[in-house]
Parts: sequence; C-alpha cells; structure tokens
Amino acid sequence: MAEHATDAVVVGSGPNGLAAAIVLARAGRRVSVIEGSEAVGGGCRSEELTLPGFVHDTCSTVHALALASPFLSSLPLAEHGLELLHPDAPLAHPLDDGSAVVLERSVEDTARGLGPDADAYRRLFDPLVRTAPELLREILGPLRPPRHPLVLARFGPSALRSTVGLARSRFQGERARALLAGCSAHSMLSLRSPASAAFGIVLMVAAHRVGWPVARGGSQRLADALASHLRSLGGEIETGRWVQSLDEVAGARATLVDVTPRQLVRLAGDRLPERYARRLGRYRYGPGVFKLDWALDGPIPWTAPEVARAGTVHLGGTLDQIAASEHSAVRGEHHERPFVLLVQSSLFDDSRAPAGKHTAWGYCHVPHGSTRDMTEAIEAQVERFAPGFKDLIAARSTMDAAAMEAHNPNYVGGDINGGVQDLRQLFTRPVARPVPYSTPVDGLYICSSSTPPGGGVHGMCGYYAARAALRRQSG
Ligand SMILES: Cc1cc2nc3c(=O)[nH]c(=O)nc-3n(C[C@H](O)[C@H](O)[C@H](O)COP(=O)(O)OP(=O)(O)OC[C@H]3O[C@@H](n4cnc5c(N)ncnc54)[C@H](O)[C@@H]3O)c2cc1C
Repeated sequence: MAEHATDAVVVGSGPNGLAAAIVLARAGRRVSVIEGSEAVGGGCRSEELTLPGFVHDTCSTVHALALASPFLSSLPLAEHGLELLHPDAPLAHPLDDGSAVVLERSVEDTARGLGPDADAYRRLFDPLVRTAPELLREILGPLRPPRHPLVLARFGPSALRSTVGLARSRFQGERARALLAGCSAHSMLSLRSPASAAFGIVLMVAAHRVGWPVARGGSQRLADALASHLRSLGGEIETGRWVQSLDEVAGARATLVDVTPRQLVRLAGDRLPERYARRLGRYRYGPGVFKLDWALDGPIPWTAPEVARAGTVHLGGTLDQIAASEHSAVRGEHHERPFVLLVQSSLFDDSRAPAGKHTAWGYCHVPHGSTRDMTEAIEAQVERFAPGFKDLIAARSTMDAAAMEAHNPNYVGGDINGGVQDLRQLFTRPVARPVPYSTPVDGLYICSSSTPPGGGVHGMCGYYAARAALRRQSG
C-alpha cells in the first residue's frame, strides 16, 4: 500500500475511524484506512455467530446515537445502502407484577404509562426534547464554551446528579424510577455516582426525538455504508492488516488512531514524550461485558405482551435491583441477578433470521477482564420475564469480557466504552489537553471513543479529531 502517497492514514475502521476518514476526504485529503480485522466496522459489525442464515451484531445494534449525531446524520448513507428500521417502541422494561414500562416515541404516551409520575416525567423531558438538536450538539463533543447556555442550564442540574438521587427525588413510583435506572445503566457507572443520570437522560431524549432504530440486515450495513461513502470520496481501505508500530505508517502528514490509550502507547513506542505516555498509562478502563447471542425457534414469550413492541428490553426489575447490580460490576464483583440489556431486532427486521426464526442478544456488566460464564445468570433474567424462553434456544454464542478484547483490542478488559466515562474522565479523555484529540507528537491524533464524547456509534470523536488535524494543517 502506498502510504507515502497519502495525506492521512487512519488506523482502525470503527465508526470513529471511518468518520474521521470521511471528514478528511471531504476536505480533499488523500486518506487510507488500515483495519486489522477482515471486515470494516469495529463495534459495528455483523456475523453468523450461531447457525447459517442467522445474522448477529457482534457489538452495537441500536443506532439512536447515529441518528442523534450531527455528523453521521448529515451523511448520505441511505444512498450507500443503509436502511434504518424503527421498532414500534424504542424500549420496554418488564416488572415482576407482569406489566411493563414502555419508553414510547412520544413523551406524552410514555408519561401516560407512569401513573403518579406522569406530570414529573413531562416536566423533565418536554423541554429537553424540544431543544434536543441544540442539546445533542453541545454534549456530543469536547468541552468548549457553550453555544446554547440556556439549553445546557436546563440539562445540567438533572444530568449531573446520580441516577439514584435523581430518580428518588423526581419520581415517586417504581415504574419511572426503573425506566431511568435501566437507561442510565448504559453508562457502565455505578448508578450512585454523580452524572450517571446524564446517560439515561440523553438516551431517553434521543428515543423521543429520533428513535432507537436498527439497521436492516445488521449493523455491518452501517459500517459498509460509511466505507462505501468514503470510497466514493476517493478514500482507500485496507483490511486484514494489524498495525504493530506507527513506524509502518510513517510518511503521511497526519496519522489518526482509532485505538485506546494503552494501544497507542504500544504503537507509538518511544515517539511519545515520556510524560504524555505516563499520563496515558494512568487512563482508567471500566467494567467489561459478558454477551450472549441467541438463535431462537420463535419470538421471546414475554409475560407482558407489550414488550414485543420494543427493540430493546431492560431486564433487572426495580431501581434498587439495577443499582445493586451495576454497583457490583464497578466494585469488581459478579452479581447473581445482573441487569441485562437485551435487543430483539429480528422482530422488526425479517432479514436477520430464516422465516419464523429469530435472533436476540443480551449482555450484562461484569468486572474488568472477567472470564466468568454468566450464561445461566443472564438466561435466568430473561426467564424471569419470559417463562419458556430457554426452550426456544436453538443455538447460542458466548463472549466473556476477555473474549471481547480478543475480538476487538479496543475493548480493553471488555470495556465497550473505551474507558470509564465518569465526570473525571468524560471530557479529559484520554488526558486533559485543550485539544484532547491531539498528542504532543506533530501530526498524530487519537480519534477513538477514548476521546470526547466517548462510547457509542456516533462518529463524533472521529469528526472532531479530523477537524483538529485539518486545523493544524491549515494553521
Ligand atoms: C456488545 C456491545 C454492544 C454495543 N451496543 C451499542 C449500541 O447498541 N449502540 C451504540 O451506539 N453503541 C453500542 N456499543 C458501543 C460501540 O460499538 C462503540 O462505542 C463504538 O464502536 C466505538 O467506535 P470506535 O470507532 O471508537 O472503536 P471501535 O468500533 O472499537 O473500532 C476500532 C477499530 O480499530 C481496529 N484496530 C484496533 N487496533 C488496530 C491496529 N493496531 N491495527 C489495525 N486496526 C486496529 C479494530 O479492529 C476496530 O475495527 C456496543 C458495544 C458492544 C461491544
């Protein structure tokens, strides 16, 4: 490959690597992306993990953040084969009384299912959903002077609270509290820690404003559409080549790495000033995930029938139960009744399984690097709200936290967010610098989810890293 004929090399083709490459190609730069795996996409890939004809997303499925992303949503991805499908409802959260809380597209419809908390829910979400585009633009990026201070002022006081604190003070009933807890648990933080509520609020605002869609045919189609768009702009992609050292890609004016700090230290060797390398060495990674993919002989037999309307299902019961589970993972313990995030995309996308059959995945948070088999614990949580589920399992694929990292070296210890996303590390990832995407090495940038705004398929880390590289070149 002719690296020396390129202006920029991007190492890694996750959504952030591809987004960075697209920004550079659109600015007229000759860009090459080098990907270690045989397929592009990183956390946005699909494979037949179980049986022939069953398409499983190895990582992400729900693309709320792609739609919420000011950058990804501006790209002509439909012209490159992407079709997003919206489940009837974004999320359902079954409870032990046989009912389910449903996060609907509309705030009003959701509020109606929350009993005593209907008004409190409207009061919290109506104003945030109304100004969602401005809010998302503010928070899906690095820390900078706000363009919409009033919008942030409305979000901040609730977002900065712990989930447990906010849920208990805002809501009286178990239904609204559980709904917020399940959404906030995507943060992989203890729900008792400050700002854990921010993640739940943002995902719920996104559900109301843009929905939580899945990609027809699997998430690979989203990565393939990004790759196809990049190629249409003249970008090149090489797969099946693991970069071992940045010496291999020397020569380009800019190198952007879609990797986490630990990998960057290895790739850069003694190019990095010692002090910066030491600071990267102090970067904190969080809990891991244990994931199960199922091939199913039928749809999951939920006790509460409305759960079948939702793409995502949160299994863990009440606020207190979910908070206990999440706190365990952060403390390095396995919880016997873990909070499970489940996605049942084949109900809304018939291309993912043979006729009459289905796929689903479920994962729970586990201690960093865990190799404990959580199959029984996860399946017991599904059975709790869908008795008879296990009888439908035709085949399963399991991935513990260590296997996650083997599948994608960016998931260090199984941490799927590229590092802890607490207040101390959300905007100072990977280290505190005025431009966190830049490094002290001229022309070297980090563009992965280990930079602001962190994990998720939104491409905004790549977008801002590429913009930093372009600014430096023209400055
Ligand atoms: C089980 C699971 C479920 C998830 N669900 C969702 C979801 O529903 N919605 C959502 O928005 N997000 C979800 N995520 C998170 C999302 O997938 C990630 O946050 C996102 O993919 C991060 O993008 P990235 O580009 O920073 O890194 P990655 O997607 O991890 O991509 C990094 C790429 O770099 C490559 N690479 C690394 N080192 C090298 C090297 N030395 N040489 C060459 N190539 C290299 C890797 O192979 C990989 O392809 C999920 C993640 C997991 C694991």
